[in-house]
Amino acid sequence: MTDHIDGELEPDLRSGQATPSGSPAPSCRTQPDGQPARRRIIVAGAGIGGLTAALALERSGFSVQVLERSQQNGEVGAGIQISPNAWRVLDALGATSFLEETTSKPEAIQINSVRAGGKIARIPLGKEAVQRYGAPYCVIHRADLHKGLMEVAESRPNIEINRGLALADGVEDEDGITVEIQGESGVSSSRGEALIGADGVWSTVRRRLLRLPSADYAGRVAYRATIPVEKAPELANHTGLWMGDRAHLVHYPIGSGREINLVAVVDDEWHEENWSAPASGEEVLEHYKDWPLPVRKLLALPQRWLKWALCDIGPGTIWAEGRIALLGDAAHAMLPFMAQGGAMAIEDAWVLARCLAEEADVDEALMEYERKRKQRVERVVRTARDNARTYHMKGVMALARDTGIRYLGGQRLLSRYDWLYKWQPE
Ligand SMILES: Cc1cc2nc3c(=O)[nH]c(=O)nc-3n(C[C@H](O)[C@H](O)[C@H](O)COP(=O)(O)OP(=O)(O)OC[C@H]3O[C@@H](n4cnc5c(N)ncnc54)[C@H](O)[C@@H]3O)c2cc1C
Repeated sequence: MTDHIDGELEPDLRSGQATPSGSPAPSCRTQPDGQPARRRIIVAGAGIGGLTAALALERSGFSVQVLERSQQNGEVGAGIQISPNAWRVLDALGATSFLEETTSKPEAIQINSVRAGGKIARIPLGKEAVQRYGAPYCVIHRADLHKGLMEVAESRPNIEINRGLALADGVEDEDGITVEIQGESGVSSSRGEALIGADGVWSTVRRRLLRLPSADYAGRVAYRATIPVEKAPELANHTGLWMGDRAHLVHYPIGSGREINLVAVVDDEWHEENWSAPASGEEVLEHYKDWPLPVRKLLALPQRWLKWALCDIGPGTIWAEGRIALLGDAAHAMLPFMAQGGAMAIEDAWVLARCLAEEADVDEALMEYERKRKQRVERVVRTARDNARTYHMKGVMALARDTGIRYLGGQRLLSRYDWLYKWQPE
């Protein structure tokens, strides 16, 4: 947290008066209609976690201002997974109707090993997931999830979403926090009781306001592409995982089954702060030279590839200090090998709103949020790291892995994740 702001803004920040783009802090305890005034929270980032947090906070009686750096809705990205634990939160927030139209529900995860030359296990999902967990396991295009959440949030009267405005800094005092906002037309300020940093893996709230280290690059690069389902109709009903030497491949249907999402993850030191760096098919295939022909043929199909460098944040850093808390990737960016980045941000949002609603002391509420979430999320981060090693094994290690997976079989492999998918919002 910075303790001063340079330049012209300082008087505004100190007086706590919002400049034009922000709304003034509530100055009285009732609204004109006699209803008690809602306490106001500022959320930086209208991504998956920020929008869910806005919905959860609004439901808990707060008014929420969401600042989003991008001018446009996020049409970027590709597949993201919504496991039963995340589905239940969205359901409790009344945000699942759009999911019925935009998600696919794969029947199974088929695990393949390059060493074994093909399938070694099939984990049942589909109806089995619904029976076991009481909620579906879904896959969706990130743009569809983002658009759906945005529309629900925009329909709620106590949520204000300001696009094209980036959180730049903030100053806390006894009664609240005043934030500095950077937009195309200049700098402005706004004020709330707390600031939630849901500004993603390259978080400003994390690095500038809380002075915490950035997420670490993991020495892995993920290439993503989508293809029309007609090009690979045999992949339409399931999620596939191929594990090989220093690389793996995941595919699953998105866009209600109209497309197949491909994510090819390789060991590579390239890194940049960018979700969508361009990449070529040749570059991808170079990493899969000795792989089975069907996989190489699949990887040759996309017209266009994009890549991003994988990062994570290890255990041990704080998530909350004073009136500031981090949420989602800003708090605990993780490798995607548990497919839980979005799901954990969604769970965080629910717990954070409950803590703020139940504890009037904001500092204490945010500390309680961190205490309630940390152990579970760090377990997910560790398991994702373990999977990163397991997926890229070679030689006898790969043989031992494949034998173990075959021995366990699909049902027992699924039951190993009951602790994750059975989570219920309080
Ligand atoms: C453009 C984009 C594409 C992605 N594509 C994929 C994908 O294909 N597959 C996948 O698994 N995951 C993808 N992700 C990541 C995935 O959404 C997150 O890992 C996960 O959903 C956790 O969500 P989050 O809310 O913590 O972060 P995010 O969903 O990343 O949201 C962070 C938001 O904060 C905004 N922001 C950043 N800095 C500021 C600031 N200073 N002020 C205000 N706003 C700010 C960003 O523009 C973004 O909208 C993508 C994320 C983004 C932003």
